[in-house]
Amino acid sequence: MTQKTAIIPITLPTPFDVGPVNCVLLKSDAVTLVDSGAKTEESKQMLISALKDHGLTFKDLDHYICTHYHPDHAGLSKEIQDNGVQTFMLKEAVPYVSNDPHFMEQGEAFYTNLYHSFGVPDALGRLELLKLRKYRTFSSSFVPDTLPLPGDQVQGHEGFIFLKTPGHAPDHLSLYHEEDGILIGGDVLLPHISSNALLEPPAVNETERPRTMLQYRETLQYLMTLNLKTIYPGHGEPFTNAEQLITKRLHDHTERAKTLEHLLSDGPLTVFELCRRLFPKLYEKQLGLVVSEVVGHLDLLQSEGRVRVEEENKISYYRREQEL
Ligand SMILES: [Zn+2]
Repeated sequence: MTQKTAIIPITLPTPFDVGPVNCVLLKSDAVTLVDSGAKTEESKQMLISALKDHGLTFKDLDHYICTHYHPDHAGLSKEIQDNGVQTFMLKEAVPYVSNDPHFMEQGEAFYTNLYHSFGVPDALGRLELLKLRKYRTFSSSFVPDTLPLPGDQVQGHEGFIFLKTPGHAPDHLSLYHEEDGILIGGDVLLPHISSNALLEPPAVNETERPRTMLQYRETLQYLMTLNLKTIYPGHGEPFTNAEQLITKRLHDHTERAKTLEHLLSDGPLTVFELCRRLFPKLYEKQLGLVVSEVVGHLDLLQSEGRVRVEEENKISYYRREQEL
């Protein structure tokens, strides 16, 4: 007789601006932990004590599933795997979580060149690289044991399947229970903030960076076709108004794209100039996020034939296609 899966969120502190992160404990025939929090001593102790409240230690977990490689979700993966727990991630996660040296090196060169082409002053670009390196220290490298495919059953939790939900991260997965309308969604859809479609380097054996904003919008449109009643997000409280929220997120993207298009009315601009105009207060402190946000919306405009890119001395200028 199979048992219905109990879903138990566990909230842990992170050292990041996003605030606390939610892991999820799934209990039925099997015991599975989804996500593990950042690699800090405080977070680790809180996770251990939350599991203890359910009579569990790391060793008692049957499976560990990580939604995506970001350190606030994947940070303690290795510590859990080292206890003999079978670890699941999508195959796209492997170069990130294993700290593949070739991929990391290429990634850094990619960001350096890209930031330069965006017109970001080199000193600010270097600072972002240092921030990225620091960010990565909140996760230990590991190699997942099992790389599930989209549509695969989640072992031991009847009715749950793996979904591929890229955009916020290229390796992002969610767990979906169609009959009960449940999505364990990581950062695919958050109730209080819009998920950033972050800039990413080209995947292994690719030369072009993924258009993460377009991927993310496809993911949102795909989610709209599902039976979504209750979402357990990676940050914030569980919520039920997924359809309304997705509609709002898609609408907000098109509005922001319009704003950017308007900023290009007086002539072509670099990404960095657009960042300063769109986020005059935020751009220096949060340059990485701001650049991702601007480029994502420019990619959207470009995909619709509303802007084009012109290169001059290795700097990219975005020009509005339609005349006013
Ligand atoms: Zn994330």
